[in-house]
Amino acid sequence: MAVRGGGPGGSRSPVEHGFPHLPTVREAITALYRRLSYETVRTFDVSVAAGDVAFADVDELYTGAQRVARVLVRHLRLPEARLVVSFRDMEYAANVEPAAGPEYFVELNSRFKSHRRDIGAALAHEVTHVWLHRLGLSFPGVRDNEILTDTVTAYLGSGWLLLDAFREDGLTSQKLGYLTPEEFGYVLAKRAEVFGEDPAPWFTSPQAYEAYVRGREVARRDARRPPLVACGWAGRHRYAWDRRYARTHPEETPFPPRDPEGGYVFESCSPLRVSFACPTCLQRVRVPVRGRVRARCGLCRSVLECDT
Ligand SMILES: [Zn+2]
Ligand SMILES: [Zn+2]
Repeated sequence: MAVRGGGPGGSRSPVEHGFPHLPTVREAITALYRRLSYETVRTFDVSVAAGDVAFADVDELYTGAQRVARVLVRHLRLPEARLVVSFRDMEYAANVEPAAGPEYFVELNSRFKSHRRDIGAALAHEVTHVWLHRLGLSFPGVRDNEILTDTVTAYLGSGWLLLDAFREDGLTSQKLGYLTPEEFGYVLAKRAEVFGEDPAPWFTSPQAYEAYVRGREVARRDARRPPLVACGWAGRHRYAWDRRYARTHPEETPFPPRDPEGGYVFESCSPLRVSFACPTCLQRVRVPVRGRVRARCGLCRSVLECDT
Protein backbone atom coordinates (compact mmCIF):
# COMPACT_ATOMS: atom_id res chain seq x y z
CA MET A 1 0.00 0.00 0.00
CA ALA A 2 3.05 2.21 0.05
CA VAL A 3 4.01 4.56 -2.71
CA ARG A 4 7.55 4.04 -3.80
CA GLY A 5 9.64 7.04 -4.53
CA GLY A 6 13.15 8.06 -5.38
CA GLY A 7 12.42 11.22 -3.49
CA PRO A 8 11.15 13.62 -2.40
CA GLY A 9 14.26 15.66 -2.24
CA GLY A 10 16.11 13.61 -4.78
CA SER A 11 17.93 10.37 -5.14
CA ARG A 12 20.95 9.41 -7.18
CA SER A 13 19.52 6.08 -8.26
CA PRO A 14 18.49 6.05 -11.92
CA VAL A 15 14.79 6.38 -12.76
CA GLU A 16 13.31 3.50 -14.76
CA HIS A 17 12.03 4.60 -18.18
CA GLY A 18 10.06 3.13 -21.04
CA PHE A 19 7.05 0.82 -20.93
CA PRO A 20 7.99 -2.30 -18.90
CA HIS A 21 4.60 -2.47 -17.11
CA LEU A 22 2.38 -1.69 -20.11
CA PRO A 23 0.51 -5.04 -20.29
CA THR A 24 -0.56 -4.63 -16.63
CA VAL A 25 -1.41 -0.95 -17.16
CA ARG A 26 -3.70 -1.97 -20.02
CA GLU A 27 -5.33 -4.67 -17.89
CA ALA A 28 -5.89 -2.09 -15.17
CA ILE A 29 -7.78 0.25 -17.53
CA THR A 30 -10.00 -2.64 -18.66
CA ALA A 31 -10.60 -3.72 -15.05
CA LEU A 32 -11.62 -0.17 -14.12
CA TYR A 33 -14.25 -0.05 -16.90
CA ARG A 34 -15.52 -3.51 -15.93
CA ARG A 35 -15.86 -2.64 -12.27
CA LEU A 36 -17.26 0.90 -12.66
CA SER A 37 -19.16 0.75 -15.98
CA TYR A 38 -18.80 3.21 -18.80
CA GLU A 39 -21.37 5.62 -17.28
CA THR A 40 -19.54 5.92 -13.97
CA VAL A 41 -16.10 6.35 -15.57
CA ARG A 42 -17.57 9.20 -17.62
CA THR A 43 -18.54 11.10 -14.46
CA PHE A 44 -14.83 11.66 -13.64
CA ASP A 45 -14.60 14.19 -16.43
CA VAL A 46 -12.78 16.91 -14.49
CA SER A 47 -9.21 16.47 -13.23
CA VAL A 48 -7.98 17.76 -9.90
CA ALA A 49 -6.95 21.40 -10.37
CA ALA A 50 -3.40 22.39 -9.43
CA GLY A 51 -4.66 25.30 -7.34
CA ASP A 52 -6.81 23.03 -5.17
CA VAL A 53 -3.84 20.94 -4.02
CA ALA A 54 -1.22 23.70 -4.00
CA PHE A 55 0.88 23.57 -0.84
CA ALA A 56 3.37 26.32 -0.11
CA ASP A 57 6.24 25.80 2.33
CA VAL A 58 4.81 28.61 4.48
CA ASP A 59 1.45 26.78 4.94
CA GLU A 60 0.94 25.09 8.29
CA LEU A 61 2.02 21.49 7.82
CA TYR A 62 -0.74 19.38 9.38
CA THR A 63 -3.76 21.52 8.51
CA GLY A 64 -2.35 21.94 5.00
CA ALA A 65 -1.91 18.18 4.51
CA GLN A 66 -5.44 17.55 5.82
CA ARG A 67 -6.84 20.16 3.43
CA VAL A 68 -5.12 18.55 0.42
CA ALA A 69 -6.30 15.10 1.56
CA ARG A 70 -9.88 16.34 1.72
CA VAL A 71 -9.68 17.67 -1.86
CA LEU A 72 -8.53 14.24 -3.09
CA VAL A 73 -11.12 12.36 -1.02
CA ARG A 74 -13.85 14.59 -2.49
CA HIS A 75 -12.47 14.06 -5.99
CA LEU A 76 -12.99 10.30 -5.66
CA ARG A 77 -16.33 10.86 -3.90
CA LEU A 78 -15.49 9.14 -0.67
CA PRO A 79 -17.83 11.25 1.44
CA GLU A 80 -17.46 9.55 4.81
CA ALA A 81 -13.76 8.76 4.52
CA ARG A 82 -11.50 10.80 6.80
CA LEU A 83 -7.78 10.75 6.20
CA VAL A 84 -5.52 11.33 9.18
CA VAL A 85 -2.12 12.38 7.86
CA SER A 86 1.09 11.97 9.85
CA PHE A 87 4.81 12.13 9.05
CA ARG A 88 7.44 9.53 9.79
CA ASP A 89 10.97 8.56 8.77
CA MET A 90 10.59 5.50 6.57
CA GLU A 91 11.78 3.78 3.43
CA TYR A 92 8.67 4.57 1.38
CA ALA A 93 7.39 7.95 0.28
CA ALA A 94 3.94 7.30 1.76
CA ASN A 95 1.78 4.53 3.14
CA VAL A 96 -1.83 3.80 4.07
CA GLU A 97 -3.21 0.69 5.71
CA PRO A 98 -6.48 -0.61 4.28
CA ALA A 99 -9.14 -0.58 6.98
CA ALA A 100 -12.90 -0.60 7.34
CA GLY A 101 -12.97 3.17 7.77
CA PRO A 102 -14.29 5.79 8.08
CA GLU A 103 -10.85 6.85 9.37
CA TYR A 104 -7.73 6.02 7.38
CA PHE A 105 -4.25 6.67 8.66
CA VAL A 106 -1.84 7.90 6.02
CA GLU A 107 1.85 8.23 6.74
CA LEU A 108 4.02 10.51 4.66
CA ASN A 109 7.79 10.35 4.63
CA SER A 110 9.13 13.16 6.85
CA ARG A 111 11.13 14.44 3.89
CA PHE A 112 7.83 15.86 2.60
CA LYS A 113 7.95 18.38 5.44
CA SER A 114 10.45 20.30 3.34
CA HIS A 115 8.99 19.27 -0.05
CA ARG A 116 5.37 20.18 0.46
CA ARG A 117 4.57 20.81 -3.20
CA ASP A 118 4.54 17.02 -3.78
CA ILE A 119 2.28 16.12 -0.86
CA GLY A 120 -0.74 16.23 -3.21
CA ALA A 121 0.91 13.67 -5.51
CA ALA A 122 1.73 11.25 -2.68
CA LEU A 123 -1.75 11.60 -1.19
CA ALA A 124 -3.40 11.08 -4.60
CA HIS A 125 -1.90 7.58 -4.76
CA GLU A 126 -2.84 6.74 -1.15
CA VAL A 127 -6.43 8.01 -1.50
CA THR A 128 -6.83 5.80 -4.58
CA HIS A 129 -5.72 2.83 -2.45
CA VAL A 130 -8.56 3.60 -0.04
CA TRP A 131 -11.03 4.03 -2.92
CA LEU A 132 -10.00 0.71 -4.56
CA HIS A 133 -10.15 -1.04 -1.20
CA ARG A 134 -13.70 0.15 -0.65
CA LEU A 135 -14.63 -0.78 -4.21
CA GLY A 136 -13.18 -4.25 -3.72
CA LEU A 137 -11.02 -3.95 -6.83
CA SER A 138 -7.51 -5.35 -6.58
CA PHE A 139 -4.91 -7.23 -8.60
CA PRO A 140 -3.07 -10.21 -7.11
CA GLY A 141 0.46 -9.43 -5.93
CA VAL A 142 1.92 -6.21 -4.58
CA ARG A 143 3.52 -5.13 -7.85
CA ASP A 144 0.40 -5.48 -9.99
CA ASN A 145 -1.79 -3.92 -7.32
CA GLU A 146 0.47 -0.86 -7.17
CA ILE A 147 0.35 -0.60 -10.98
CA LEU A 148 -3.46 -0.78 -10.76
CA THR A 149 -3.41 2.01 -8.15
CA ASP A 150 -1.20 4.34 -10.21
CA THR A 151 -3.20 3.63 -13.38
CA VAL A 152 -6.55 4.34 -11.71
CA THR A 153 -5.16 7.49 -10.05
CA ALA A 154 -4.09 8.77 -13.46
CA TYR A 155 -7.22 7.66 -15.31
CA LEU A 156 -9.66 9.25 -12.86
CA GLY A 157 -7.98 12.65 -12.80
CA SER A 158 -5.50 13.08 -9.93
CA GLY A 159 -2.54 11.06 -11.24
CA TRP A 160 -1.09 13.88 -13.34
CA LEU A 161 0.27 15.12 -10.01
CA LEU A 162 2.33 11.92 -9.70
CA LEU A 163 3.88 12.45 -13.11
CA ASP A 164 4.53 16.12 -12.38
CA ALA A 165 6.50 15.10 -9.27
CA PHE A 166 9.07 13.52 -11.62
CA ARG A 167 12.04 15.88 -11.82
CA GLU A 168 15.63 15.46 -12.83
CA ASP A 169 18.66 17.66 -12.83
CA GLY A 170 22.30 16.88 -13.40
CA LEU A 171 22.78 15.29 -9.98
CA THR A 172 19.50 14.02 -8.61
CA SER A 173 16.18 12.68 -9.69
CA GLN A 174 12.88 12.22 -7.94
CA LYS A 175 9.90 10.21 -9.01
CA LEU A 176 6.80 8.96 -7.22
CA GLY A 177 4.79 5.88 -8.00
CA TYR A 178 5.43 2.52 -9.65
CA LEU A 179 4.75 3.45 -13.25
CA THR A 180 7.57 4.90 -15.29
CA PRO A 181 7.10 8.55 -16.31
CA GLU A 182 6.26 7.41 -19.86
CA GLU A 183 3.62 4.97 -18.59
CA PHE A 184 1.98 7.76 -16.58
CA GLY A 185 2.01 9.74 -19.84
CA TYR A 186 0.34 6.83 -21.63
CA VAL A 187 -2.53 6.62 -19.12
CA LEU A 188 -2.98 10.41 -19.04
CA ALA A 189 -3.18 10.44 -22.83
CA LYS A 190 -5.79 7.64 -22.76
CA ARG A 191 -7.80 9.74 -20.32
CA ALA A 192 -7.30 12.88 -22.41
CA GLU A 193 -8.74 11.16 -25.50
CA VAL A 194 -11.88 10.07 -23.66
CA PHE A 195 -12.55 13.36 -21.88
CA GLY A 196 -11.26 15.77 -24.53
CA GLU A 197 -8.79 17.21 -22.06
CA ASP A 198 -5.27 18.54 -22.59
CA PRO A 199 -3.03 18.05 -19.54
CA ALA A 200 0.08 19.41 -21.31
CA PRO A 201 -0.15 22.95 -19.83
CA TRP A 202 -0.43 21.62 -16.27
CA PHE A 203 3.10 20.26 -16.03
CA THR A 204 5.56 22.36 -14.06
CA SER A 205 8.34 19.79 -14.58
CA PRO A 206 9.88 19.80 -18.08
CA GLN A 207 10.87 16.13 -17.69
CA ALA A 208 7.26 15.23 -16.84
CA TYR A 209 6.01 17.02 -19.94
CA GLU A 210 8.52 15.19 -22.15
CA ALA A 211 7.47 11.85 -20.66
CA TYR A 212 3.83 12.75 -21.28
CA VAL A 213 4.58 13.37 -24.95
CA ARG A 214 6.36 10.01 -25.28
CA GLY A 215 3.51 8.18 -23.55
CA ARG A 216 0.95 9.96 -25.72
CA GLU A 217 2.70 8.73 -28.84
CA VAL A 218 2.33 5.09 -27.70
CA ALA A 219 -1.29 5.72 -26.67
CA ARG A 220 -2.11 7.11 -30.11
CA ARG A 221 -0.49 4.10 -31.76
CA ASP A 222 -3.20 1.90 -30.20
CA ALA A 223 -5.76 3.58 -32.48
CA ARG A 224 -3.60 3.11 -35.58
CA ARG A 225 -3.26 -0.66 -35.52
CA PRO A 226 -4.95 -3.12 -37.86
CA PRO A 227 -7.72 -3.97 -38.41
CA LEU A 228 -8.71 -0.37 -37.52
CA VAL A 229 -9.06 1.68 -40.71
CA ALA A 230 -6.69 4.31 -39.28
CA CYS A 231 -3.75 1.90 -39.42
CA GLY A 232 -0.90 2.71 -41.76
CA TRP A 233 0.16 1.01 -44.96
CA ALA A 234 2.79 -1.24 -43.33
CA GLY A 235 0.32 -2.52 -40.74
CA ARG A 236 -2.31 -3.20 -43.38
CA HIS A 237 0.20 -5.09 -45.49
CA ARG A 238 1.26 -7.31 -42.58
CA TYR A 239 -2.38 -7.83 -41.61
CA ALA A 240 -3.26 -9.04 -45.13
CA TRP A 241 -0.34 -11.46 -45.06
CA ASP A 242 -1.36 -12.85 -41.64
CA ARG A 243 -5.00 -13.17 -42.74
CA ARG A 244 -3.98 -15.20 -45.77
CA TYR A 245 -1.83 -17.40 -43.57
CA ALA A 246 -4.65 -17.92 -41.01
CA ARG A 247 -7.05 -18.89 -43.82
CA THR A 248 -4.66 -21.40 -45.32
CA HIS A 249 -3.39 -22.79 -41.98
CA PRO A 250 -6.54 -23.18 -39.84
CA GLU A 251 -4.74 -25.67 -37.62
CA GLU A 252 -2.43 -22.88 -36.51
CA THR A 253 -5.14 -20.49 -35.29
CA PRO A 254 -5.20 -18.53 -33.08
CA PHE A 255 -2.68 -16.74 -35.25
CA PRO A 256 -0.42 -14.88 -34.69
CA PRO A 257 0.22 -16.42 -31.26
CA ARG A 258 -0.77 -14.24 -28.30
CA ASP A 259 0.70 -10.77 -28.65
CA PRO A 260 1.54 -9.01 -25.35
CA GLU A 261 1.03 -5.68 -27.11
CA GLY A 262 -2.67 -6.46 -27.57
CA GLY A 263 -2.45 -6.75 -31.35
CA TYR A 264 -4.87 -8.61 -33.61
CA VAL A 265 -5.33 -12.38 -33.50
CA PHE A 266 -7.24 -14.47 -36.05
CA GLU A 267 -9.49 -16.96 -34.26
CA SER A 268 -11.46 -20.07 -35.27
CA CYS A 269 -12.05 -20.73 -38.89
CA SER A 270 -15.65 -20.81 -40.04
CA PRO A 271 -16.19 -18.02 -40.38
CA LEU A 272 -12.79 -16.53 -39.66
CA ARG A 273 -12.87 -13.93 -36.91
CA VAL A 274 -10.31 -11.44 -35.71
CA SER A 275 -9.92 -10.08 -32.19
CA PHE A 276 -7.99 -6.97 -31.18
CA ALA A 277 -7.74 -4.56 -28.25
CA CYS A 278 -10.22 -1.66 -28.18
CA PRO A 279 -8.00 1.45 -28.30
CA THR A 280 -10.00 3.12 -25.49
CA CYS A 281 -10.65 0.47 -22.80
CA LEU A 282 -8.27 -2.20 -24.18
CA GLN A 283 -10.79 -4.99 -23.82
CA ARG A 284 -10.55 -7.44 -26.71
CA VAL A 285 -13.21 -6.97 -29.38
CA ARG A 286 -14.12 -9.76 -31.85
CA VAL A 287 -15.41 -9.11 -35.35
CA PRO A 288 -16.01 -11.35 -38.37
CA VAL A 289 -13.48 -11.12 -41.19
CA ARG A 290 -15.61 -9.72 -44.03
CA GLY A 291 -14.18 -6.41 -45.22
CA ARG A 292 -15.43 -3.12 -43.78
CA VAL A 293 -17.05 -3.65 -40.38
CA ARG A 294 -18.25 -1.09 -37.87
CA ALA A 295 -18.05 -2.53 -34.35
CA ARG A 296 -19.10 -1.04 -31.05
CA CYS A 297 -17.05 -1.96 -28.00
CA GLY A 298 -19.46 -3.43 -25.47
CA LEU A 299 -17.44 -2.12 -22.52
CA CYS A 300 -16.66 1.53 -23.35
CA ARG A 301 -19.05 2.00 -26.30
CA SER A 302 -16.39 3.25 -28.67
CA VAL A 303 -17.36 2.88 -32.32
CA LEU A 304 -14.56 1.12 -34.15
CA GLU A 305 -14.22 1.40 -37.91
CA CYS A 306 -12.43 -1.72 -39.10
CA ASP A 307 -11.23 -3.09 -42.38
CA THR A 308 -11.02 -6.78 -41.62
ZN1 LIG B 1 0.71 2.11 -3.08
ZN1 LIG C 1 -13.63 -0.29 -25.41
